[in-house]
Parts: sequence; structure tokens; C-alpha cells
Amino acid sequence: MMRIDGQCHCGTVTYEADVEPGDVGICHCTDCQRLTGSAFRVTVSTRATDFRLTGKMPRRYEKRADNGALRLQFFCEVCGSPIYTTGEGQDAETVGIRWGTINQRKELKPHHQIWCRSAVDWLDEVADLPGRPGD
Ligand SMILES: [Zn+2]
Ligand SMILES: [Zn+2]
Repeated sequence: MMRIDGQCHCGTVTYEADVEPGDVGICHCTDCQRLTGSAFRVTVSTRATDFRLTGKMPRRYEKRADNGALRLQFFCEVCGSPIYTTGEGQDAETVGIRWGTINQRKELKPHHQIWCRSAVDWLDEVADLPGRPGD
């Protein structure tokens, strides 16, 4: 297990958690594309009992996912950063922490991906794009 902490962009919502470094996944579903405004989402899953909010409470948005399960999306009401997700019933025992909010995120690489059916078709081309270290 690895101890992590994290925060939203403005610092209103903060948390700490214990995670297994292997439990990092990419989701290519269309809900994640819309909710992040990006091509895919990276999430670290852990038990709800290993996740603790340490700042102000995030806001909640409920969405039924592509697979029919009700997902609860928690985000900072000040800056809008997605913080974590959980579900109802048995799904409530797990939280999915949004990778970009984790302070130790560089140590947490993805180990699997889901909803590849809706993945963008240019992912393999990113490594070949011209790039520079800053903006
Ligand atoms: Zn915030
Ligand atoms: Zn998704």
C-alpha cells in the first residue's frame, strides 16, 4: 500500500488515501470524455474506507453510466476539478480517485484500460507529435 494525498486545483477540497500502485486504470468511455473535457480519464481505485476527505466537502453530481450503473461524481464547487467517484450498493465500497488531483501521481502509472471501444483513434500517434518541454 502507498499513502497518497491530493487536492483540487484551488485547494478547497483535499484528501488522503491508501492505494495499491497497481490499481490505476484508464477509462475511454464517452462519459469520462465529457466529464473531463479530455480524451480519456485516469483513475486510481481503492476501498472507500482507505479514502479520507480532509478539507471542505466536494459537490456531488449523479450520472447513470454507459453500463447502467449509477455513478456519483464528486467535484470541487469552486474550481470544478473532478475529485473522485463512487457508486451505490456494493459499488459504494470502492472509490475512484481522479489521478490528476493526486500529489504523487507521477509514481502511479496505469495498468489497464476499459471502454476501448470508444477510445479516440489518435492515441498511438501522440508519441510522434512534435513537442517541447514547456508551453
Ligand atoms: Zn477547487
Ligand atoms: Zn469512463
